[in-house]
Amino acid sequence: MPEGDSVHRAAILLRALVGEELEVETPHPRAAAERIAERLDGRRLEPVEAVGKNVLLRFEGGMVLRSHLRMSGRWQVQPRGSLRSGRPWLVLRGAEQEAVLWNGPVLELHARAVARLGPDVLAPAPDFDAMLTNLRRLAPETWLGEALLDQRVVAGIGNVWKAESLWRAGLSPWLRLGAVEDRELRGMLGEAATLMRASLELRRQPRQIYGRAGRPCPRCRTRIRSRGQGDGNRTAYWCPTCQRGEDPPAP
Ligand SMILES: [Zn+2]
Repeated sequence: MPEGDSVHRAAILLRALVGEELEVETPHPRAAAERIAERLDGRRLEPVEAVGKNVLLRFEGGMVLRSHLRMSGRWQVQPRGSLRSGRPWLVLRGAEQEAVLWNGPVLELHARAVARLGPDVLAPAPDFDAMLTNLRRLAPETWLGEALLDQRVVAGIGNVWKAESLWRAGLSPWLRLGAVEDRELRGMLGEAATLMRASLELRRQPRQIYGRAGRPCPRCRTRIRSRGQGDGNRTAYWCPTCQRGEDPPAP
């Protein structure tokens, strides 16, 4: 799944077209059904932002196109008129370059796309106070690992950086929210922001625990465990020794 940092990279690419009046095409029939081309064609592209896992493209007149890449979506920017095979979802054509969206499973056009998402963990100054307030609105028995993936609480954290930031903070994904102090939650959110910012800027992926079940914890050498968690059954990774928390429920 594209994490927040790969979404930011897509937004940076798309900025090549900001300020231009774009020719818009939707070659893929499912995208054509949304009538996006008709509504955007000829409009000027205004700032492009990454918010959580979404790329938001603003157009003159208050239109906002939300693109969520899910597992397979990809934005590409190339010289205008480049050859390609296959039918992309969307083509935004400027004077010299064009942006092409492949396999764009979620494309919505409206003006309220941002309202449902929590503060962006990759914002220049992340709003940790608001994230904390959102976390405290969840039921106290919610597992920490589930809460961190809730995009209404904090936007942009995926399963990889969830595992890594919890490990850095010494908190287990199986800890209940009600058993965590504000100070600990802030520390963990800070770790997530730092790790993801480094990944965005340096393009390195320092993974200590994600995908390493059965191998020794880099901090205490205990064997790392893994287990599906929550409604989405996303795999949680944790060290049962140096990450504070309870045991997961019996399978
Ligand atoms: Zn450990």
